[in-house]
Amino acid sequence: MEQSNFIRTIIKEDLENGKRDTVVTRFPPEPNGYLHIGHAKSIIINFGLADDFNGQTNLRFDDTNPLKEDQEYVDAIKEDVKWLGYDWEELHYASNYFDEMYNRAVLLIKKGKAYVDDLNQDEIREYRGTLTEPGKESPYRNRSIEENLDLFEKMKNGEYENGQKVLRAKIDMSSPNLNLRDPVIYRISHATHHNTGDTWCIYPMYAFAHPLEDAIEGVTHSLCTTEFEDQRPLYNWIVAECEMENQPQQIEFGRLNITNTVMSKRKLKQLVDEGIVDGWDDPRMPTISGLRRKGYTASAIREFVQETGVSKGSGAVDEMMLEHYVREDLKLSAPRTMGILKPLKVVITNYPEGESEWLEAENNPENEEMGTRQIPFSREIYIEQEDFMENPPKKYFRLFPGNEVRLKHAYFIKCNDVIKDEDGNVVELHCTYDVETKSGTGFTGRKVKGTLHWVDAKSAIPAEFRLYEPLVLDEQMKEEASEDKDFLDYINPNSLEVVQGFIEPNLKDVQPQDKFQFFRHGYFNVDSKYSTPEKPVFNRIVSLKSSFKLNK
Ligand code: ATP
Ligand code: MG
Repeated sequence: MEQSNFIRTIIKEDLENGKRDTVVTRFPPEPNGYLHIGHAKSIIINFGLADDFNGQTNLRFDDTNPLKEDQEYVDAIKEDVKWLGYDWEELHYASNYFDEMYNRAVLLIKKGKAYVDDLNQDEIREYRGTLTEPGKESPYRNRSIEENLDLFEKMKNGEYENGQKVLRAKIDMSSPNLNLRDPVIYRISHATHHNTGDTWCIYPMYAFAHPLEDAIEGVTHSLCTTEFEDQRPLYNWIVAECEMENQPQQIEFGRLNITNTVMSKRKLKQLVDEGIVDGWDDPRMPTISGLRRKGYTASAIREFVQETGVSKGSGAVDEMMLEHYVREDLKLSAPRTMGILKPLKVVITNYPEGESEWLEAENNPENEEMGTRQIPFSREIYIEQEDFMENPPKKYFRLFPGNEVRLKHAYFIKCNDVIKDEDGNVVELHCTYDVETKSGTGFTGRKVKGTLHWVDAKSAIPAEFRLYEPLVLDEQMKEEASEDKDFLDYINPNSLEVVQGFIEPNLKDVQPQDKFQFFRHGYFNVDSKYSTPEKPVFNRIVSLKSSFKLNK
């Protein structure tokens, strides 16, 4: 990522004027969910910048909340970071520093900079005041250092219930910055931690833990998103008052948001827990694992994120831009093939019964190196239901009674008869072909306007296609936004359509994650969960066209 941006400028200056002699960044996920594409932005910025300055990036699990964290998430996060193409220098767990954090908290108490408070959560909130009103001091604020040391130790030893006491930093109850009004830095939680088990029943709060983690690891530039801007003074206070040797600098950048995309682990977890999707890796999820299963490539995600740049702003990026990059990435690499999503049988009545032939088809007209393949053709084929209309409007160039079209890689066919079932549904077409019009023979006798894709009925392989739309209807949600509705009220009922069709026989050995461009339908990926050798399942990654144009 060689584009310049304000963070790069800061780092460059720090190195030039000797404030730093190295660059250490970290990606610090909380293992309470799977990574989403917003996290990809943070990953790319952290790893990209450190790399550009020959620095290092660590992966750190910010695991200070035992109730929400899980080993499953730890494993998934590691896998996703690697898949995106990044490799951390060091792997850390915030929970490995619990001893050190405890000692730093004791140091604060000894300096008269922290105290044990008996107010409960609601009272603390009430005493905090508002943006226009100063806060009120807790009646426990002026406990002696000895008493505080004793009470904090008892908290640690499990002598109190959850919520009975907290440890607070003693800063300034009338600060205009609410974060500095004696923030809670330790709470009691009798819960088993995925890494430290039952060793602890007090846990540091994020705002206390995070700066210490950065400082302990020698992080030089602690990059985070803009919602932490108001926390920066507290971050600096903690690093300074805890007398940390290394002083990291917090720099904030704007979050990535994408239209029609829910980007919060809490909400994504809700979708999983309520069974609205089939897991964190459901192809409709904006998670890295969901995008991967849908068929996105790591390079398309990287290119997209880089194009969104690094700034303080966080306006939503059009989802079509993400689609643009995967199309670009697959254009030259994905083989082209034909698949029928909603089949309609066509009998070519003048094609000799029992015979068949092989036709040559190019695998990618934009990339000759991908060569050609042979596809079978015989008397019965499938075309797409939507490629036939009995009573077409003007300018309909596909098949209708009396009309002639080209079959891709094959012959011209003309529709003569329409066969219907007793309800009047079209179930079969009878056509004739013209042997003279064979593809590749240079036939110029006459022209047709429509080209249809098809598969040979006898040899085609049944396949399932999964077609996606956005999971949440963003625009509607914005328009109707109100207190008593939440995002679950805006789930798109059409976010998944499953259809049963056919594919060319030469796709018989497809493997999960293989990617193809199906003529006219778009790019598809073999699903890693539902696909079987008997019945391949394809996820549509994107359709072929988008109205999105990059303004470069
Ligand atoms: P969410 O709000 O989705 O739950 P989070 O910020 O709570 O995400 P963390 O695990 O704390 O999740 O995030 C790890 C890192 O990723 C943090 O530094 C965070 O700032 C960054 N990050 C999270 N979401 C985004 C986003 N949409 N754009 C850019 N960076 C993000
Ligand atoms: Mg967070």
